[in-house]
Amino acid sequence: MRNKLADLLIAKGIVDPKVLDAIRTIPRHLFMDSGFEGHAYQDKAFPIAAEQTISQPYTVAFQTELLAVKPGHKILEIGTGSGYQTAVLLELKAKVYTIERQLELFKKTNLFFKKIGYTPKKTIFGDGYKGLPEEAPFDSIIVTAGAPEVPKILLSQLKIGGRLVVPVGIDEQVMIMFTRKSEKEFEKKELGIFRFVPLLEDKN
Ligand code: SAH
Repeated sequence: MRNKLADLLIAKGIVDPKVLDAIRTIPRHLFMDSGFEGHAYQDKAFPIAAEQTISQPYTVAFQTELLAVKPGHKILEIGTGSGYQTAVLLELKAKVYTIERQLELFKKTNLFFKKIGYTPKKTIFGDGYKGLPEEAPFDSIIVTAGAPEVPKILLSQLKIGGRLVVPVGIDEQVMIMFTRKSEKEFEKKELGIFRFVPLLEDKN
């Protein structure tokens, strides 16, 4: 079923062999809530705890491809959720720092990582809107929830040459990739329309 899912993603335009291998390897059904496991290898988002969703495999593959992950890359993920995207980054041998603001999901997914044997560098409970300044700079930053506007502070936490991939918008989101060209210059690319649960800002 995982091979079939990878074939479907190829048909939809995913080309990076390492990303496709990660999709072929990771048991997505174990990242799903009971009742939905039977649908795990469809290319669809599904509900998880705390009214959140596990992203659609195509979206995960698309965002991951944009990051151009190399082994050892230091990556910040905002929105741990089910941990599936985290697992994809770990399969690509990145060092992953991942932030989740829903306590229930944070606890549940942390336990699950231990059980299944995926080890992010750090899992953080809190508001990822502000990034993770104490661990910056990062080779790349991936936001897996829809940001109402570009979280500018994240741009300042990229290495030169680093990439920020963030879906921006309210009802639907434009996938934006920023590449840091120098201290002050960023290249911006807009790459299609997606739908995510909202990135929420804790204003305290
Ligand atoms: N990568 C996840 C996607 C989960 S949906 C997966 O593949 O399962 C997006 C997640 O972002 C949700 O779990 C939501 O709680 C979280 N989120 C929303 N706003 C956030 C914020 N400001 N900081 C950290 N996490 C946030």
